Amino acid sequence: MDGELGARYQAATCNILTRQDRYSLKTFRSSALGVPGALWWDWPGDQIGRGLSVLHVASASGWAPDEARRKEILDVVLPLQGATGSFGPPKPDPTNVQFISGNAMALRGLLDAYEDDRDPRALAAARRLARYFEAAFDYYKDRGAQGSVNEYYGHCLDGLVCLHQLGGDTWALDLAERIGARAGRTHHSHSSLSMYRGMMGLHNLTGNDDYLRRTLDYLDWVRSVGSVTGGMPEVMPEYREDEGCALADYVIVNLKVFAATGRDEFLDEAENTLVNHFSMNQFHTGGFGHRAFAQQVIGGKDWQGWGGKFGSENPGCCSFWGQWALGNVSSYIATRLADTIEINLYPTAEIEFPELGARIGIRSDFPRMRHTSFAVSINRDQQLDFSFRVPRWADGATVALNGVDISPRRVDRRMILRREWRSGDQLEVSFSSPLRLVRWPKADSPTAAVFDGPLCLALSNADANVDAAWGVGVTAEGKLALDPSGQPVLTGEKGAAGIRLRPLRDDWSSPDVSNPHRLRVLFNTRVA
Ligand SMILES: [Zn+2]
Repeated sequence: MDGELGARYQAATCNILTRQDRYSLKTFRSSALGVPGALWWDWPGDQIGRGLSVLHVASASGWAPDEARRKEILDVVLPLQGATGSFGPPKPDPTNVQFISGNAMALRGLLDAYEDDRDPRALAAARRLARYFEAAFDYYKDRGAQGSVNEYYGHCLDGLVCLHQLGGDTWALDLAERIGARAGRTHHSHSSLSMYRGMMGLHNLTGNDDYLRRTLDYLDWVRSVGSVTGGMPEVMPEYREDEGCALADYVIVNLKVFAATGRDEFLDEAENTLVNHFSMNQFHTGGFGHRAFAQQVIGGKDWQGWGGKFGSENPGCCSFWGQWALGNVSSYIATRLADTIEINLYPTAEIEFPELGARIGIRSDFPRMRHTSFAVSINRDQQLDFSFRVPRWADGATVALNGVDISPRRVDRRMILRREWRSGDQLEVSFSSPLRLVRWPKADSPTAAVFDGPLCLALSNADANVDAAWGVGVTAEGKLALDPSGQPVLTGEKGAAGIRLRPLRDDWSSPDVSNPHRLRVLFNTRVA
């Protein structure tokens, strides 16, 4: 990835991996023992797992010192693994969900480390830890909402699925299936979405549609209480703040559902969160955290840990998981289905399909995505379908091949182009989308957000009193009214004429982590 998405990913990566002071080996030791010293030392194993998973993503994008770093982390933490297989105090309190959740992160991280270097110590440690989860199943199996499996326990699912895939442990798959059959509408959005990420892995492995059905039900619930910006509360169904980790996993779960079903509405959903709420949640440090959550005004100051030392960033958890998700997004930009290359997302990136001998260079103005160009290089002439997603926010699309406008076949919201591709072929794809209203929370609500293509626009408290009764003008037909300069007509306070709405996501360049902006995203609609 390059361009703006690549810059965000690199910022998030450096925020973790160049801060050896913040994430020293001593802090990994305290995470392993569950004693003070790491940011979230009282969630034992959590920093170990997230740290190894961040390194796994960084390895894939060519972070050279990853192997040495992984080895020194494992050298420190593995000798501290307890007799029960878990990290933390020697006699763990079985009722402590922080304990179980931190260790679930460790399980996944150890398997990521094993996948990277095939260090047998990492696999052996993951096996011992997974046995700890097997022993805890009976306690947690019905301690989630409405008697479902507890989500802080249930998010060990993705690690169990990895253990089966990498270690061939059929008992781990059996445990994963027992957990998956009990997943429900649990309250903590990050743990739950992590669990459903594991559920999609389980669905891919087994083909059992019950796992997909449960995942779709959870995503439905999130959408029904979420904001127009693609955000959701840290605790479902209602809470005063968001969490970067939950946003990160929401993006990835939606991408995984697309990959399993081919249904583009899940790409639309992932993209909306990616370019709006998740991007707003990223700070200029590169890290992620917590910002106030509500339907109308989002983004303000709420929880700040460690005496406010890091402002609203949560470098103990969200900054790790934001990096992890940004890196994982790259796997879904273009995907392959038989001899079809599906173009799903439009950031600047280089994509290789080694088995096809094909490489696609994408350049775009992501995240606004008016124009994207594709440079194809291919080492043998072959017939391939290119299938371009037309996003739901676009009301028109045009395609030019080597400078000549063409009309690809349309199938639903895809444009499909079959051709014997040659190196040097150039494609230009343009999407049109005027400034528009998105009524929210319902399609006939009197309140609405203003979108510019995929981007939600916001009124910042840097520019105006966001608590005033702001409205936007609409035409008699219910469309967004524009003033002579092409801007929305804002009403609410004297002098509103000079105030501009800006993309919500631009707030990441605001340098005050301690007092993040409050951002109005819903407006009353008034016939202008
Ligand atoms: Zn978090």
